[in-house]
Amino acid sequence: MAACLLNGNISLHCGTSIYIGKDHQLASKASAIAFKACLQSDVTRLSTACRVSCTRRYGSHQAPHGQNYTATAVLSCVQDNATKYFDFVVIGSGVAGLKYALEVSKHGSVAIITKAEPQESNTNYAQGGVSAVLSPSDSVESHMHDTMVAGAYLCDEETVRVVCTEGPDRVKELIAIGASFDHRDDGELHLAREGGHSHHRIVHAADMTGREIERALLKAVDEDANIFMFGHHFAIDLLTSQDNTEIYCHGVDVLDTETQQVVRFLSKVTMLASGGVGHIYPTTTNPPVATGDGIAMAQRAHAVISNMEFVQFHPTALADEGLPVKLAEPRDNAFLITEAVRGDGGILYNQSLQRFMPLYDPRAELAPRDVVARSIDDQLKKRGEKYVLLDISHRPREAVLAHFPNIAAECLRFGLDITRRPIPVVPAAHYMCGGVRAGLHGETNVRGLFVAGEVACTGLHGANRLASNSLLEALVFARRAVQPSADHAGRSWRIGPSTPWARPVLPTSLPGGAREGIRRRTREVRAELQSVMWEYVGIVRSTSRLKSAEGRLLELEAEWEEFLSRRGWKPTMVGVGECEMRNLFCCAKLVVSSALARHESRGLHYTQDFPNLEESKRKPTVIFPPSLTAAAAAGKVAWSSQQMHKHTH
Ligand SMILES: Cc1cc2nc3c(=O)[nH]c(=O)nc-3n(C[C@H](O)[C@H](O)[C@H](O)COP(=O)(O)OP(=O)(O)OC[C@H]3O[C@@H](n4cnc5c(N)ncnc54)[C@H](O)[C@@H]3O)c2cc1C
Repeated sequence: MAACLLNGNISLHCGTSIYIGKDHQLASKASAIAFKACLQSDVTRLSTACRVSCTRRYGSHQAPHGQNYTATAVLSCVQDNATKYFDFVVIGSGVAGLKYALEVSKHGSVAIITKAEPQESNTNYAQGGVSAVLSPSDSVESHMHDTMVAGAYLCDEETVRVVCTEGPDRVKELIAIGASFDHRDDGELHLAREGGHSHHRIVHAADMTGREIERALLKAVDEDANIFMFGHHFAIDLLTSQDNTEIYCHGVDVLDTETQQVVRFLSKVTMLASGGVGHIYPTTTNPPVATGDGIAMAQRAHAVISNMEFVQFHPTALADEGLPVKLAEPRDNAFLITEAVRGDGGILYNQSLQRFMPLYDPRAELAPRDVVARSIDDQLKKRGEKYVLLDISHRPREAVLAHFPNIAAECLRFGLDITRRPIPVVPAAHYMCGGVRAGLHGETNVRGLFVAGEVACTGLHGANRLASNSLLEALVFARRAVQPSADHAGRSWRIGPSTPWARPVLPTSLPGGAREGIRRRTREVRAELQSVMWEYVGIVRSTSRLKSAEGRLLELEAEWEEFLSRRGWKPTMVGVGECEMRNLFCCAKLVVSSALARHESRGLHYTQDFPNLEESKRKPTVIFPPSLTAAAAAGKVAWSSQQMHKHTH
């Protein structure tokens, strides 16, 4: 049985999420139009809209590769300027969203909605690489074993098997579309080894693997006439309806942040590939787009959420304060020092140049991330220091520069030559192992809503993610979701032309002073939420600190909502800062309530009150929506991970 967190943790906080009941849906069905009944003029308007969007994206009047964006007959249509129809809507343009779009476009028209420039994503920052069994001396069983050990045996064994088995083909597909990875002198792929892996199995492009994958996928997407990219479009909320206990997803309301217009995207299938939640913490390796919007949207749409207590802190982000030359402005996201540096022989020292990892774990620097992050945290607290040192300078200079050119260049910008001196590093929030509960094909409990990538909780990572398994998971699940998506789209879905959902509005009626005051207060509240999370819900936790965080978050949210209301903000109003703030609150509370529910220490969740592993608690944390609460209590829902049997080898 899943360790459920029931009512009380799932209150809805967004005024724009319209969750309609059965009667309402039936009324709208009476005047329904079929999706494909579209006019040629509408198709032309769609084509124009997409050309504009692509021009914006490349900052020129000509989209690259000379592709023709004229919509084909299979495409859906535009109903009016504020409503667009597509067969498939994808939220997010990281590896998961792009891979899915490329595959699903064989079955219909695809819109990719993404809140910033298309390449801005966690994917673009991934350094180390993608893990896959590609060497004859390696095996699927070995990759599975390493994944499950890192995941503290909370992984879903079937998911692990699927990902480790299908991974190599997904990597080969990336190569086939033009991704260029490092090779050895003999022409074979150069496979690196990272912490927690018992074999060399990390495919990489120097230390900029994510950028190369993103580049290759974006280029392929550009060349696909069935895919339309909507950059600078912020997804506000999913559009859902309910029929008895079933929830259906019909698309998403979106804010075009360049024209400041709300656009409704209606679709047969929605793929949520919106990435992670790093910005619930003040120090994170994630770019600013990672504010947990997808998890919050899905929760408001009554999706099942799981394992949110398992936040991975990367042990080694660059500690800017330890650099010889200081930064003019603090960074939006911490610069990552990939664990391939430790894999390549990097050694961790405290500031007295004492090597400390062997004191904590026999695997020393090659121990899994959670162990290394906790050990660094302990050193920092004991010694009252702000950072530790990661030294790779004993390795040959040419090898360091060849393997880590990006890190070397970034450090050199601030006066540090990593081939001669150690790198100052601190832990930073890095990856969310939990998320929207997904089945083996990325399906969720909301019909028509699929998830892939970091937003999803597939059961692969369990209580901790093995290095380089997340790009792999995104590729595998994006691919697996395609056929069920096409099957779902193939059914005769209808939707009313006079859509039943209230439209979000922009706060244009507010006086300038009030709008600016709200923006300022929202920035302050965001910083306070982040500091509560860092202070009380960090690497080492305790029940009393988690309860303090819970109380303070509720108080802070109520104060903020009250502030907005006093300044004239209405529940249907939307602005990116305010939507992100609500989403950050939602995700922060999910992390805290999930952490409070776990009465043991497992993987990334370490609490001083329950410092040991407990076999009886080896279950995922599952947060059910109200629509499933009764069924969950009666044991009638199958949304818990399969419990796998602990391997003894
Ligand atoms: C610095 C760094 C290094 C990493 N290194 C590795 C590595 O070596 N190997 C590995 O396997 N993993 C690595 N990871 C993790 C991995 O990069 C991510 O887990 C993975 O890229 C997630 O892919 P994704 O497609 O799910 O999400 P992302 O790549 O984050 O894409 C999410 C997309 O959703 C969009 N989006 C979010 N919210 C909205 C909204 N409201 N409206 C519209 N669009 C929205 C974003 O703009 C973005 O385009 C690293 C992560 C970081 C940050």
